[in-house]
Amino acid sequence: MDFSLTRQQEMLINMVSEFAETELAPKALELDEKGEFPFHEVKRVAEQGLVGIVTSKEYGGSDMGHLARVIAIEEISKVYPPLGFFLQVGPIGMYILETMGTDEQKQKYLPPLCKGEKIMSTAVTEAAGGSEPQAMQSTAVADGDDYIVNGRKVYISFAEAADIVCFVAKTDDKFNAFIVEKGTKGFEITRRESHNGLRSIPVNEFALTDCRIPRANLVGEEGKGLIAGLNGIAVIGRTGVAGVGLGIAQGCYEAALKFARERNLYGKPIAGLQAIQFMLVDMNVEIEAARFIAYKAGWLLDQGKGPREAGADIAKAKLVTCELANRVAFNAVRILGGAGTTPEYHVIRRLRDATELLAAAGTQEIMKVIIGGSITR
Ligand SMILES: Cc1cc2nc3c(=O)[nH]c(=O)nc-3n(C[C@H](O)[C@H](O)[C@H](O)COP(=O)(O)OP(=O)(O)OC[C@H]3O[C@@H](n4cnc5c(N)ncnc54)[C@H](O)[C@@H]3O)c2cc1C
Repeated sequence: MDFSLTRQQEMLINMVSEFAETELAPKALELDEKGEFPFHEVKRVAEQGLVGIVTSKEYGGSDMGHLARVIAIEEISKVYPPLGFFLQVGPIGMYILETMGTDEQKQKYLPPLCKGEKIMSTAVTEAAGGSEPQAMQSTAVADGDDYIVNGRKVYISFAEAADIVCFVAKTDDKFNAFIVEKGTKGFEITRRESHNGLRSIPVNEFALTDCRIPRANLVGEEGKGLIAGLNGIAVIGRTGVAGVGLGIAQGCYEAALKFARERNLYGKPIAGLQAIQFMLVDMNVEIEAARFIAYKAGWLLDQGKGPREAGADIAKAKLVTCELANRVAFNAVRILGGAGTTPEYHVIRRLRDATELLAAAGTQEIMKVIIGGSITR
């Protein structure tokens, strides 16, 4: 396994890092406090090829690959995790379309999504339990050339901003995925949820009431909708969350290191206190180890492995990076003393953001279930 980055990936790091430092860093705090998402930046990152980064060129993507995607999301999330999270969640539906959709669906929807002109959400989770998606209550009943779809979804990122939603519902004892366009009669955003972190991001509950969805909007074979949704969440969602987790950890580590070097007590920087140094050492070493695991997951996908073959490695990446982000952010708050919980030092914001990663794209316990299954098989 060769983990050296290509020249293109090195250049990507530099380009994205410069963009994040100049464009996102100055306004990250204000956006978080106002709970506003910078939608105009979606076009900017799309121009850099980051929205369609794993979409093939045929459909307007840049096709730079999954490892490049983890790296880009990490660089953005170092500074402003909500935009990294957008790049995590938006492409889930794009991947579902590209791998399962018809050629007409790909031609129609993927190019404007890659350009950032349109936004897509993927709606699987319901109040019945995200870890048990089979318990979902949403229904799709065939009616001539249409399906009549009813149901309610919770925790859906960017639903209120989405032009199209990939919606999974039950037809008898099978599951189907549909493209639901904004403005479809019966599609109603019922709530913007209040979350502890990633405050810029609209996370919504919404309902479909007697929505008439043309059969042409069925994604993939009849009965394969849940597998389509879960594969998208695994391949795109979990590797994306891993990038966000790495970015949060790296950003907090750098903030804590800077503070420890500059803060003087007893006539010298606290970076010289062994208690502080040990926390910084743990951060440094654990980030490097987690990065290796996360990059490996992206690399495996780039080698052509699918959700089945790479599933356990992807779950490891999601598990370690999200634990890491929470641990590093928490210890950064400790290192900063009283300054740690003030917004100006940007670590408490990142700690709040890190808590959102624990459940997003599947909980940490579900990652252990997946890894457990693979090692005891
Ligand atoms: C910020 C954010 C954004 C999200 N965006 C989206 C989105 O865009 N689209 C979407 O469809 N969903 C989205 N989700 C939902 C997310 O996928 C679910 O929250 C997740 O799957 C967990 O479901 P749940 O919240 O219902 O928890 P539950 O499934 O009710 O789990 C509750 C607890 O039980 C544990 N548990 C469950 N089963 C097991 C088991 N077998 N073994 C051990 N422990 C278990 C869980 O780990 C957890 O601790 C988002 C969530 C968040 C936080």
